Amino acid sequence: MMNKTISTDVCIVGGGPAGMILGLLLASQGVEVTVLEKNANFDRQYRGEIMHPRFVQMMEQIGLRTFLEQYPHLNLEEGGLYHKDKVLVPIHFSDLVPEFPYAFWMPQPILLNALYDKGKMYPSFHLQFHSSVKELVKEEGRIAGVKVETKEGQMEIRAKVTVGADGRFSLIRKLGGFEMEYEHYNNDVAWFTTPLPEGMPKQLQLVLTDSHFCLVLPKYPDSIQGGITFKKGEWKKIQERGVAHFRKELAEASPAFREFAYSLQNFKPFTILQAKTMFVREWAKDGCLLIGDAAHCASPAGGIGVSLSTATAIVAADVIYEALQASDVSASRLGQVQRIREKDIRNVHQLQLKQESLQMSNNPFVKRIRPYLITLLAKTSIFKKKQKDVFVMSDPLPIHPRFKLNTSY
Ligand SMILES: Cc1cc2nc3c(=O)[nH]c(=O)nc-3n(C[C@H](O)[C@H](O)[C@H](O)COP(=O)(O)OP(=O)(O)OC[C@H]3O[C@@H](n4cnc5c(N)ncnc54)[C@H](O)[C@@H]3O)c2cc1C
Repeated sequence: MMNKTISTDVCIVGGGPAGMILGLLLASQGVEVTVLEKNANFDRQYRGEIMHPRFVQMMEQIGLRTFLEQYPHLNLEEGGLYHKDKVLVPIHFSDLVPEFPYAFWMPQPILLNALYDKGKMYPSFHLQFHSSVKELVKEEGRIAGVKVETKEGQMEIRAKVTVGADGRFSLIRKLGGFEMEYEHYNNDVAWFTTPLPEGMPKQLQLVLTDSHFCLVLPKYPDSIQGGITFKKGEWKKIQERGVAHFRKELAEASPAFREFAYSLQNFKPFTILQAKTMFVREWAKDGCLLIGDAAHCASPAGGIGVSLSTATAIVAADVIYEALQASDVSASRLGQVQRIREKDIRNVHQLQLKQESLQMSNNPFVKRIRPYLITLLAKTSIFKKKQKDVFVMSDPLPIHPRFKLNTSY
């Protein structure tokens, strides 16, 4: 039995980066928003923490850059694609995007709490933790809200627009009958955290070895988050071969992993995550919209998911605001979000998939020539253009200036 029913303009399922940004932008315009988050707080590990310069660009556009920069974070100005310890392709963000020449490392709990602090400044912004959505409310052929389990019991939230911002395993996507256009899952990533080795610069490193693709990400304040990519299912074999064998592979992969590798006693320090890329065919139904990873999930190995999700959330704020003004929350109206955003997403997905097949190929010939091939490719103008497309937005997002928030703390 329902304990309580409330009504709101927009109900957002999921308090991740996409849901929080959308919620606070709409609330800044007086739209009544309820964000539902199933967890008790924002504490989480191994989530999007590194944001490319395009994220900084977007935050500037919506007036949040200086606000966010008051919270603990690191600015990373350089990086590179390495083959073991040799740099193949250096990355200098100042060359790519002189106005915002850095990637931004902010642990996700800090980012989400900062967005929550901002949201609290708007009376129409409401966030409920401990609120796990279980069902959709459907009415006259449209989605009209959700049924939620809270600490106080069951609740129904009726909304003009229901947004699924509930991540890559989205329940709203499933309950709403949204179809997947594609889903690629070839690799897993094993993540671990270790102190930053003495003397190692704080820079992003993407490392190719003969058998793996690795990520060395400086982690706020003085650690590194390491990631090792391997073929789906291979982790079991790695464990069967034993920790001594893996220790050797890890130590040889990157100097940044060496101390960690020597201290490794078992496989407990690793968290394994599926590197999935997926794209929902149509993101909107009458009264309902999917955003962020729920609609379009990029591989976590690219470190771009937060930027893509946030961009879709910002565009969604503009489209939903106008849709509410026009009292038209039809699929075709809400579908404008997809029409604006899909080109960028498809582009990034295609690049990731191409990069993945080159980096993960087990063909002995490809393995042998891969470092030289990448060095040559990196010199071409097409590579430079594609690289820029990933890190930088060529144009500001097409949104109304009303969404430039007041930057005061
Ligand atoms: C290991 C790993 C490392 C990554 N590293 C990076 C990186 O460095 N940089 C980067 O940009 N991206 C990275 N990503 C990707 C990034 O984390 C995601 O793209 C991003 O968090 C997506 O944001 P979102 O708001 O769409 O979804 P999420 O962040 O997944 O948020 C969804 C929210 O919905 C909540 N939720 C789910 N179901 C329900 C329900 N039924 N009811 C209520 N709430 C619900 C969840 O608890 C969660 O808080 C990484 C991902 C992984 C897995």
